[in-house]
Amino acid sequence: MTRPWNFSAGPSVMPLQVLQQAAAEMTDWQGSGMSVMEMSHRGKQFMHIRDQAEADLRTLLGVPDDYAVLFLQGGATGENAILPLNLIGRNGANKADYIVSGAWSEKSAKEARKYGDAAVVATSASEAVIDGRHQAPYTWFPDAGQWQVRPDTAYVHFCSNETIGGVEFTQWPDLAAVGAPGVPLVVDASSHILSRPIDFSKAAVVYAGAQKNAGPAGVTLLIIRRDLIGHALPTCPSAFDYANVEKNDSMYNTPPTYAIYMAGLVFKWLLAQGGVEAIEQENIRKAQALYQYIDGSGFYQNRVHPDVRSRMNVPFFLVDESLNAEFLAQADAAGLLQLKGHKSVGGMRASIYNAMPFEGVQALITFMKEFERRHG
Ligand code: PMP
Repeated sequence: MTRPWNFSAGPSVMPLQVLQQAAAEMTDWQGSGMSVMEMSHRGKQFMHIRDQAEADLRTLLGVPDDYAVLFLQGGATGENAILPLNLIGRNGANKADYIVSGAWSEKSAKEARKYGDAAVVATSASEAVIDGRHQAPYTWFPDAGQWQVRPDTAYVHFCSNETIGGVEFTQWPDLAAVGAPGVPLVVDASSHILSRPIDFSKAAVVYAGAQKNAGPAGVTLLIIRRDLIGHALPTCPSAFDYANVEKNDSMYNTPPTYAIYMAGLVFKWLLAQGGVEAIEQENIRKAQALYQYIDGSGFYQNRVHPDVRSRMNVPFFLVDESLNAEFLAQADAAGLLQLKGHKSVGGMRASIYNAMPFEGVQALITFMKEFERRHG
């Protein structure tokens, strides 16, 4: 079966084997006589599906035992509120510090202000000159050494992969080095979770909407050090109080059962690929090929500082922007889908998540070369 190459930023391409397995099991999951959608979340079949999904996620990411894995709803945007509701009251100061490096972390910081003293303690919202390169706003990442973290903040939040800007930050700091030892780091890893290993000695909370690398929309993954659970504000909705969710194995209320099942199939697929370490090598190969071609072309441009270019989301521009519409129409006709850049950035964006094979990236490069040859 051949399908077009889908470069959507999310919801995005799923592994074909996962879709095929879901199709095969659609009306009768493993002889149960039921679709997963039709099962009680309290029944033994779904409990098994949930437990297996958690176990596989733990294996894939090497989640330490003192971290809980929660399956939540509300997406990463919901988490922008749910997180402060659970954590900002942790130490009595009612403070939360945010690093703003693009559209998503900007939204996170704004939402947190509803719940307490949320401060932006570092931002790349301005232009900068880095290594002699002129960088536009949100095309670089604020150096951790410059973060003005308040020692009594309940946590520091950043987004490790800005999906819109295409900025990926992987040098997660030890906050002791900036005068804030013991402050938990909270990471929105929505658009690159499972694309590379995670260092849990650095991060106390990692969360992600599933709909890029982990499955369909509808489930939010949250991995949290257990000592941070149990500090929710009295106004926190019960269904979003991490303590309730943890105590009930993510079944305080009906969880998004089908999305959890699909995420579980993605985890199994990833294990079969050799796990996160193996897929990371593929992701490096794909990203290198695409950036190398763009940088060398003179016809296309990526404007993100090379040290923080995302392996997952590659925004690029045609130097002659009058060709944008033609580029997109021809790409679509050639079976290269959803390449239009986010409206706030313009240009193009190729999202090359785990489920996009190297072959798909090669097809994109071949098309780009051909388009350049005809118009360059
Ligand atoms: N954070 C990041 C990094 C994202 O990419 C997105 C969605 N594209 C969100 C948050 C918001 O996620 P959701 O739509 O699931 O609320």
